[in-house]
Amino acid sequence: MKITALAGGIGGARFLVGVQAALPDADITVIGNTGDDITLHGLRICPDLDTVMYTLGGGISPERGWGRHDETFTVAAELAAYGVGPTWFGLGDRDLATHLVRTRMLAAGYPLTEVTAALCQRWKPGIRLLPMSDERVETHVVVETDEGRRAIHFQEWWLRMRAATPALEIISVGAEAAQPAPGVLDALTDADVVLLPPSNPVVSIGSILAVPGVRAALARTPAPVVGVSPIIGGAPVRGMADACLTAIGVATSAGAVATHYGARRRAAPGDGILDGWLVDTADTGTEVPGVTVKARPLLMTDVAATVEIVRAALELAGV
Ligand code: GDP
Ligand code: CA
Repeated sequence: MKITALAGGIGGARFLVGVQAALPDADITVIGNTGDDITLHGLRICPDLDTVMYTLGGGISPERGWGRHDETFTVAAELAAYGVGPTWFGLGDRDLATHLVRTRMLAAGYPLTEVTAALCQRWKPGIRLLPMSDERVETHVVVETDEGRRAIHFQEWWLRMRAATPALEIISVGAEAAQPAPGVLDALTDADVVLLPPSNPVVSIGSILAVPGVRAALARTPAPVVGVSPIIGGAPVRGMADACLTAIGVATSAGAVATHYGARRRAAPGDGILDGWLVDTADTGTEVPGVTVKARPLLMTDVAATVEIVRAALELAGV
């Protein structure tokens, strides 16, 4: 079976572990969010691609959910001793090697798709990992500061401000002019099923959908499209997705997120992308016009629980 999934970082990666465990022989393509990408100390960092690659490749820190296990932060401490920031972005020593290889390959002219494939040759995540675009698309957040209104990089808002300063606007800088990376649209069109893991609807899935052509491919693919809610009982399971939803005027509820994605209209495709939507039992009774909604426990507490969520998604998709 050919499965294509869109994915952010931790929520996406954990779900994908379940997909692999549920269907060990499946041919899985993952379209990863690169809206979180940032350049620090001259190094290009792709946090969500790396979280997926490390998680499925056995290199992730299980405690943090991001970065490498057995990590040390000597270089970060040395940079801080020089007074060179930012200090709010966790750059581990092992992780740095990934960014060095990536930056060097990008400087040599390789597109991010090929760089990602090269990094995956080491980690062997067992999936095809595609960045959503080879072009730079960066999520910026407009906030009110002492110096007035300004747009800052998503990571500064998320990590330094802990998303506590209200986002007035969330912008995918560069998205309009970007193209999907090679293979992205085909992966959506040729799939047997497309899954939307419980990733952040605004800054993970939303960034991928902002790449021209992706939303239309989802609206038109012959494959069923089923999503899993990252919102349970009116709150994100972890992280600050509620702050992102508020910024775009969407309520923090499983139903509102599905309504925001929209129901697919197969006869006359529009903007809607969902056929099915899994919500937690806490949200039983959620109704989304045009979308088949099913309630079941959605906490990915361990691989076995995640496998059951994946099976329910596949069942809802009818595959
Ligand atoms: P990030 O890039 O690391 O922020 O990760 P993602 O965008 O992939 O996923 C973040 C989302 O995953 C958050 O909005 C969480 O609510 C959601 N999430 C995390 N753990 C779980 C879980 O066990 N179940 C569900 N349903 N959602 C989860
Ligand atoms: Ca992310």
